[in-house]
Amino acid sequence: MDELLAEVLAEIEPHRGRGRVADYIPALARVDPNRFGIAFAGRDGMVHGAGDCDEPFSIQSISKVFMLQLALDKVGAKLWDKVGREPSGSAFNSIVQLESERGIPRNPLINAGAMVVTDHLIGNGTMGEALESLLGLLRAESRDERVHIDEEVAHSEARTGSRNRALAWFMKSFGTLSNDVETVLEGYFHQCAVAMSCRQLARAALFLAFDGRDPETGRQVTAWHRARRINSVMMLCGHYDNSGEFAFRVGLPGKSGVGGGILAIVPGEGAIAVWSPGLNAAGTSETGALALEMLVEKTRWSVFV
Ligand code: GLN
Repeated sequence: MDELLAEVLAEIEPHRGRGRVADYIPALARVDPNRFGIAFAGRDGMVHGAGDCDEPFSIQSISKVFMLQLALDKVGAKLWDKVGREPSGSAFNSIVQLESERGIPRNPLINAGAMVVTDHLIGNGTMGEALESLLGLLRAESRDERVHIDEEVAHSEARTGSRNRALAWFMKSFGTLSNDVETVLEGYFHQCAVAMSCRQLARAALFLAFDGRDPETGRQVTAWHRARRINSVMMLCGHYDNSGEFAFRVGLPGKSGVGGGILAIVPGEGAIAVWSPGLNAAGTSETGALALEMLVEKTRWSVFV
């Protein structure tokens, strides 16, 4: 695996710096677009990496995957009363479908849907407790206590997140959110501001490749059917209006974040995390997606075998 990742790193060299760094969150606009890291965590729990794979970056919407698992573990299938599981074909922050669908977001991986998930994870508790459970999961599964929330990124988005505020208040008007809107938004901005490296992220998501079980310790992190369903939602909705393109080119369940990270799950094999800050129009890392395409070309990994 080390050789394969080194090959990808060499082949990606002429493609570094592609795409546009997210600048609508001011704290993300300063990140160097030429950074590139990739890591793979396998069945034995070992993590292999290349490039800037130890550099923490803002995981942004990749947090939605872990929040979904935690909320489903907490409240079970009743979550699906308030959020659908259909691809949206729209941008991550789109509001158009919310009106015709009476305030029920199409899936948990678009911003509106993620806020519904956050609302359920807060439940009758506090936002702090919800974020602690997220950090607890990520630290335990990455085997690294350094995983943290970057407060500067969270505040930066809170100051500029008018669209997310609009989505949350619009849903509140339909009765979709139970908690105070500002509390849900604070929780959402903070979960997006989790900082992790590719190595940490790949290791943290490993259980999704093994039916919810950490293959190294045997610990059942979540139920097997839940892990499969989360993978299916990632496959169909993980890249918003770019999900079809990602499935076509990479063929694995994946989740993008506007920090330039992509998490991809290879069922039965492991988890891949890649990071390169330049994005395409749908907010998926351009060089990151290309690197994943190169890696699956070499390994023949796909859920469509
Ligand atoms: N925090 C970002 C936002 O809400 C997350 C979007 C993303 O990563 N796709 O705009």
